Amino acid sequence: MLKYICFKITVIYVKNNNSNMKRRISKVVSIGSVKIGSDKPIAIQSMLNVDSSDIEGNVESARKLKDIGCDILRVAVPNKESVKLVYEIKKKVNIPLVADIHYDYRLALACVDAGIDKIRINPGNIGNEEYIKKIVSVCIKKNIPIRVGVNSGSLERDILAKYKKITSQALCESALRNIRILEKFDFNNIVISIKASDVLTSVKAYEMLADMCKYPLHLGITEAGTGNLAIVKTSIGIGSLLLKGIGDTIRVSLTGSPESEIKCAKDILKSLGLIKNYGIEIISCPTCGRTNVNLIEIVKNVRERLSNCKKNIKIAIMGCGVNGPGEAKNADIGIAAGKECGVLFKNGKILRKLAEKELVNALVSEVEKM
Ligand code: SF4
Repeated sequence: MLKYICFKITVIYVKNNNSNMKRRISKVVSIGSVKIGSDKPIAIQSMLNVDSSDIEGNVESARKLKDIGCDILRVAVPNKESVKLVYEIKKKVNIPLVADIHYDYRLALACVDAGIDKIRINPGNIGNEEYIKKIVSVCIKKNIPIRVGVNSGSLERDILAKYKKITSQALCESALRNIRILEKFDFNNIVISIKASDVLTSVKAYEMLADMCKYPLHLGITEAGTGNLAIVKTSIGIGSLLLKGIGDTIRVSLTGSPESEIKCAKDILKSLGLIKNYGIEIISCPTCGRTNVNLIEIVKNVRERLSNCKKNIKIAIMGCGVNGPGEAKNADIGIAAGKECGVLFKNGKILRKLAEKELVNALVSEVEKM
């Protein structure tokens, strides 16, 4: 029996910019300097995808990902040589680092020596429980958490045989089995993920697990693929769980660059009011037959000109007088366009009327003064 089984979701309210989002209470776990769980900010994770033999390339990528908003970074440690990555990244980049380890317990021990902040393993595939005990013992000494990372692609054979296919129950059973192995050695510095590539299976599995344990949950839809469909699947999966107060860290898994994962993760959190200091947010209308300026071009230019702006500012760019003035007034600054012209609003007040060609410069220059 799990020590923490049947821990019911308790709802708390987290104050953030835009809403009082419900959050499931969980154990708070420290991954280096980042705390996750309960009312702690939802952390964004990604994973390095540079060849593990390219140390400088990995360090450079880690630096970039930290700069664009990655809170916790995972690195694959497939062999002894790649433990060097942990040393080098920890030495050169100030970001909590997670080692992704399968099968070989010695790699986990070496990563702990190298200064890792969290280990992702599935105790079930490490083999002998004596090996698990060794990992647990060093993790307890150094207060290093372990993420049990259940994935639909690597379910245990007996569980797959029992359920005949990948189901939410099967994923949960695998997670609980792995947690029990760690708890057997009095280890409870645990984070869990239970990812499937199917959105409904994943969401249901997380919902079930959220009710069964008190550990923080790392959310993701695994192997989501590429392009719009991948982003939509991920946003629905992660977003629907966050709306229910479930989830403490998120990783968007795209077949693409980790940078695009961070951008998508930030957009998910931003759209739910769960992130602060995100930079500008542009609210713009879809345009229609009433639009009498080239609004698409105006929005594109404003976005490009302010792409490095880190100010927390909401900008409305609206195509006509129907919703325009209302939206523009509700934003920090905005434009309500008219016939080849527009009205510039700031903090709810009209600043001035401008010709279409003056709108972008005027808006950008006002944002720069804010
Ligand atoms: Fe059309 Fe005006 Fe709505 Fe834009 S704000 S979509 S121009 S009605």
